Amino acid sequence: MRWRTGRRSDNIEDRRGVRAGAGGGVRSPVGRRTAAGGGLGLLLLLVLGLLFGVDPALLVGLTGSMQEPDTRREVPAGYAGLTAARQDELADFVSVVLADTEDTWRELFAAGGARYREPRLVLFSGQVRSACGFAEAAVGPFYCPGDEKVYIDLSFYDDLKHRFKAPGDFAQAYVIAHEVGHHVQNLLGISPEVSRAQRAAGRAESNRLSVMLELQADCFAGVWAHHADRDRSILEQGDIEEGLNAAAQIGDDRMQRRSAGFVVPDSFTHGSSEQRVRWFRRGLQSGSMQGCNSFEAARL
Ligand SMILES: [Zn+2]
Repeated sequence: MRWRTGRRSDNIEDRRGVRAGAGGGVRSPVGRRTAAGGGLGLLLLLVLGLLFGVDPALLVGLTGSMQEPDTRREVPAGYAGLTAARQDELADFVSVVLADTEDTWRELFAAGGARYREPRLVLFSGQVRSACGFAEAAVGPFYCPGDEKVYIDLSFYDDLKHRFKAPGDFAQAYVIAHEVGHHVQNLLGISPEVSRAQRAAGRAESNRLSVMLELQADCFAGVWAHHADRDRSILEQGDIEEGLNAAAQIGDDRMQRRSAGFVVPDSFTHGSSEQRVRWFRRGLQSGSMQGCNSFEAARL
């Protein structure tokens, strides 16, 4: 994917390294995880380090857990696989993709006589507090309609590549575009309506509505890719395949087979691999939001 010369978004909130304690109040977004620790304890460690010939950087890494004696980890295990440089590159990448979705959806909304309200994107590490509650990185990237923010722990990209076998930058972009697709659904009033219907529905019907919502978000991700490529030629050889592979790998059937060894279609909330690929492709080929009406499609 050609992204390095792209515009960076102004809507990134970098909360990596900020502890989102369940009992804590609202925290202002601060910088990196290296901002943790500090104060007298840090100074003492630096002095000890110099005295005993230990690399101060090693000791600084320890201050977080020494000063904050609780069980919440400062850095999730997933981060072990990502160097600081790689994390920063991913953060930069995410910023470009978000900016591209802003440009695309602004135009599409304007064409329909509406104004696109840009979502913000929160980078976090380990756990985060959102208007939708407290979340652990293990839930994966998500969108919270309550604060109109997309949340992602960049270590998910490590999982995407290794655990879900979906490597490639366009696979990573698809993940952001899918979450932004949920934002678009929110702005269009689709997700609030679905939530209302789900409260009145039984479990199977509620799951079916979830699947429709997810497939539409996949389709919207495809719509973004269609326009971004037409206007800014972002796609390179192999990118489409990367995106389609990601859609397939994170389908509920493959996920269930991976974790439980068997598949239970009634419990699907995101759609099967085949469905996700089909709806992503549908948006990608047509570039039309109207073509993404999974709620009225004859076949999901
Ligand atoms: Zn989704």
